Amino acid sequence: MTTTDPAPAPPAPAVQDPSTTHDVVIVGGGLVGASLAIALEGSGLDVVLLEASAGAMPAVFDQRNLSFAEATVNALAALGVMRHLQGAPAPIRRIHVSRAGDFGRVVLEAGAHGREAFGQVVVARDFGHALEARLAEMPGLRRLRPARFLRLEDGDGAARVLWIADAQGERTLRTRLLVGADGAGSAVRGALGIGIGTHDYAQTLFVARLQADRVPDGTAFERLGDDGPAALLPRADRHYGLVLAVPRTRADEVAAMDEAAFVQLAQRRFGWRAGRFIACGPRTAYPAVRTVAAALVAPRAVLVGNAAQAIHPVGAQGFNLGLRDALTLAEEIRAARAADPAADCGAAGLLARHATRRVEDRARTLAFSDGLARVTANSAPLLRPLRSLGLLATGLSASLQAGLVGGAMGYRGDVPALCRDPGVAA
Ligand SMILES: Cc1cc2nc3c(=O)[nH]c(=O)nc-3n(C[C@H](O)[C@H](O)[C@H](O)COP(=O)(O)OP(=O)(O)OC[C@H]3O[C@@H](n4cnc5c(N)ncnc54)[C@H](O)[C@@H]3O)c2cc1C
Repeated sequence: MTTTDPAPAPPAPAVQDPSTTHDVVIVGGGLVGASLAIALEGSGLDVVLLEASAGAMPAVFDQRNLSFAEATVNALAALGVMRHLQGAPAPIRRIHVSRAGDFGRVVLEAGAHGREAFGQVVVARDFGHALEARLAEMPGLRRLRPARFLRLEDGDGAARVLWIADAQGERTLRTRLLVGADGAGSAVRGALGIGIGTHDYAQTLFVARLQADRVPDGTAFERLGDDGPAALLPRADRHYGLVLAVPRTRADEVAAMDEAAFVQLAQRRFGWRAGRFIACGPRTAYPAVRTVAAALVAPRAVLVGNAAQAIHPVGAQGFNLGLRDALTLAEEIRAARAADPAADCGAAGLLARHATRRVEDRARTLAFSDGLARVTANSAPLLRPLRSLGLLATGLSASLQAGLVGGAMGYRGDVPALCRDPGVAA
């Protein structure tokens, strides 16, 4: 995969004077905001993509490993993003879930479910390059970067008025639809007055590239334990992508470990099921906090991606879910414009339809990720047999497995059309 930064994007068309009303202003050019801009290409809408960070790419495109569900791969291929990846992603052909000290385990085989792979592993940085290359093909997209959303001004009902700060200083933008794609700490969400529910898992997640004496064979390992979950994702560069949670009280100690001690810690967590661990690259640490917005829409505004819900990474669902937010919104906008070319993309009915369509996928994905994270967090001995039986039951029951697999592949609730397998008739 590529390691060099892309050439800077060509200058975007100038954003007009403050009296111009744009159709859509997307705040946040991270994974989901950039994907939404691409999904709106060719819609004939005047779209502005606003991103606060400077530099070649937003900082969120770091060394974390992203597991793309099949639905995500389908959609990103249809949107022309996958072809810009510099190297092939690594397929997940098998998911192995086990719990330290318990006898149950689940092994899900893609082949047994008629699939070649459950999904594909891509390094976030490489994905950032691919998105950037795709955005550079969109001369009609207005990009403001670095430009920061500051606050909202009272609108007149026909538009949202937002204050931004960029190289020209502070100024306003008017838009029919404001999209908050500005991540877990969303300033847009705050300005809209949308509350949040949070849960702190009191864990810190360490992410690193890990080398084992066995080359990954397409198996992703999810290891649950009293210290928190850990996962190994097969990468295309013959390494594993490691995510290892520790109680936050131990985070400083783990951050201070030298490479050998950290490799040993990972080995103790996984046992020998993935081989002997030899070396690991630099570590990045993330807090594990769930943030769920109390509403997805407000008048002429919508939240997508982490701004709508930021979940524990253990289930590898965050971007997959956020992309489905973006695709559903784009689909609703396109449907409205197909019925009436002058349709208002910030209309209340359109936003209500979007919010309704997101209910089931959101609820089920949140429950799945939260369950996986919490099952590891309670070390009460009385619960142990229940957890073991739970894993074993999942291992045995075809219908439970089918549910897990469908979710892991990204098919929950009202699936956006671009997510569906192009080879399978709807
Ligand atoms: C360790 C780890 C592993 C993960 N693994 C997976 C995985 O395997 N699969 C998966 O699906 N998901 C995974 N995720 C989750 C995934 O990274 C997130 O769901 C995803 O990044 C959310 O994208 P987003 O665009 O909504 O938000 P972000 O990626 O946070 O992007 C928000 C953007 O908004 C910009 N911004 C913020 N404030 C402003 C402002 N005021 N004005 C303008 N711009 C602003 C930021 O600079 C940023 O670029 C993982 C997360 C972590 C931490």
